[in-house]
Amino acid sequence: MSVQVLAAKMAEVELKDVPGKELTPESPLTPKADDKGIVENEPKATSATTPTMEPIVKTGDTSPGFLTPNTKMPQASAMKRTDPQQNGGEAFVNRDGTVAEAPRLKKIQFADQKQEFNKRPTKIGRRSLSRSISQSSTDSYGSAASYTDSSDDETSPRDKQQKNSKGNGDFCIKNIKQADFGRREIEIAEQEMPALMALRKRAQGEKPLAGAKVVGCTHITAQTAVLMETLTALGAQCRWAACNIYSTQNEVAAALAEGGFSVFAWKGESEDDFWWCIDRCVNLEGWQPNMILDDGGDLTHWIYKKYPNMFKKIKGIVEESVTGVHRLYQLSKAGKLCVPAMNVNDSVTKQKFDNLYCCRESILDGLKRTTDVMFGGKQVVVCGYGEVGKGCCAALKAMGSIVYVTEIDPICALQACMDGFRLVKLNEVIRQVDIVITCTGNKNVVVREYLDRMKNGCIVCNMGHSNTEIDVASLRTPELTWERVRSQVDHVIWPDGKRIVLLAEGRLLNLSCSTVPTFVLSITATTQALALIELYNAPEGRYKQDVYLLPKKMDEYVASLHLPTFDAHLTELSDEQAKYLGLNKNGPFKPNYYRY
Ligand code: NAD
Repeated sequence: MSVQVLAAKMAEVELKDVPGKELTPESPLTPKADDKGIVENEPKATSATTPTMEPIVKTGDTSPGFLTPNTKMPQASAMKRTDPQQNGGEAFVNRDGTVAEAPRLKKIQFADQKQEFNKRPTKIGRRSLSRSISQSSTDSYGSAASYTDSSDDETSPRDKQQKNSKGNGDFCIKNIKQADFGRREIEIAEQEMPALMALRKRAQGEKPLAGAKVVGCTHITAQTAVLMETLTALGAQCRWAACNIYSTQNEVAAALAEGGFSVFAWKGESEDDFWWCIDRCVNLEGWQPNMILDDGGDLTHWIYKKYPNMFKKIKGIVEESVTGVHRLYQLSKAGKLCVPAMNVNDSVTKQKFDNLYCCRESILDGLKRTTDVMFGGKQVVVCGYGEVGKGCCAALKAMGSIVYVTEIDPICALQACMDGFRLVKLNEVIRQVDIVITCTGNKNVVVREYLDRMKNGCIVCNMGHSNTEIDVASLRTPELTWERVRSQVDHVIWPDGKRIVLLAEGRLLNLSCSTVPTFVLSITATTQALALIELYNAPEGRYKQDVYLLPKKMDEYVASLHLPTFDAHLTELSDEQAKYLGLNKNGPFKPNYYRY
């Protein structure tokens, strides 16, 4: 049976087919709260950045409901993706491969620490404020790539009166004239986002988000535009702000504004602009959001601080990032979460694809763009053999590098050994390796002692979430000279002339210096869309004021929607086999504790 047929069957599944479940006519997508499939506190979600936290995880089981798959989508080239919020503010990689300097980053303060929009900064003041970054969005993706970055236009979008061709001016973007160009960007992204396009097609008959008023705060890129237009096709109204001051593709924002979206974002916002844009999204007379789609938690935070009453009408929050999810769990623990929230970050389709495949593709890109290094025959040590480490190792091995791995966990260590990598302690190879890559989610993995012992020309970089893995601060001592040789590339020079090549000042290499494939974003964006549908359609009481994982069956459905791209042919269980395994023929195919 083809995957299309299988997914179509999945879409038709009624919950009554699943042992222990009843049909829920209100929303065939959503599981009942008392489903046996909803397991409290098992499995426990872990966050690389919040290792001590005990998140509350609830998983469920559901049918994918109204959604049926699309036919095979055409493939297209990957879009660029960089994440300058990770980058210390040094650069943006433009589409033509050139790199534009950006100011050093600092954290954006939260709403309760500041906010007087009336005290508008001067043009100069605004520029200096733009040396800021959202605290929360440092773990998620965006694209700094912008063909039409009109950096010569000094006028703040806040000082411009712009209208789209239909006379609508409910937006604030850099330049509406870039709309045509942005539309082409969006069309390219659509080619690599087959599942969202499939949802759109299916939505021609049904509108599962009819009446939904979604306020969103994510990177405003071509991929996000495809998501927003999909949500609209599903019946939602959307207002959107950027979750990061650097990641907006101005031309895409223009295309969205031209298409009637209320978008408040431009590349290079100041801190003041950032919160102003979020406020413009939320604070509109006669319009009250009932769903939140957040990436990093800033929007959620803003509504909590400024408009807590809005939560009376808000049905749920969908959060993508590690940081935002961490905040939600904190709220939940403190008993302050007042609506259900969906943790997209810990969905299988996010974790297993984003972390592994995204890094497998982007590690080489990040290294190549910054250093032009040749990989064949080079000795590389990868610290950490989790999802990210596995991706990095696989890519480097395929390029002919000699790869060593360090690990603390004997299970991952054994995996590394059996995958053919030499498991070592860092001090055993530190003198000989050409490249050091950290991806542990830990701190002080590469300390000054190791940096001192590296050979001349050794490249040092990090693929983990935060810039704590390499002790960069220990290199800021008087005897060492720092030389900026390229954007995102520093030579740190020892008194004897030895130099190491430090990339992105120890921040995430791929998000700072390269891009990741649109297809990976498609998987995450589809998960976000389904999470919105699920929360929006869930009957009262199904979800409590807590943090939930996307039901397993939806994870499976997201995957199934991406299979036609590969002309993949999924095997169907026979009745006998299904009985033997104790499974429903239409899934879910794995228990919640299955690790993939
Ligand atoms: P993971 O938990 O699967 O893997 C991390 C591994 O590092 C674990 O196996 C752990 O045992 C090991 N480790 C911990 N401390 C170590 C040490 N001192 N020395 C050697 N090994 C050590 O996590 P993951 O999914 O691989 O993610 C790793 C990091 O990458 C996280 O910070 C995550 O947020 C980040 N991440 C980055 C990207 C990206 O695009 N660059 C994508 C997803 C996740």
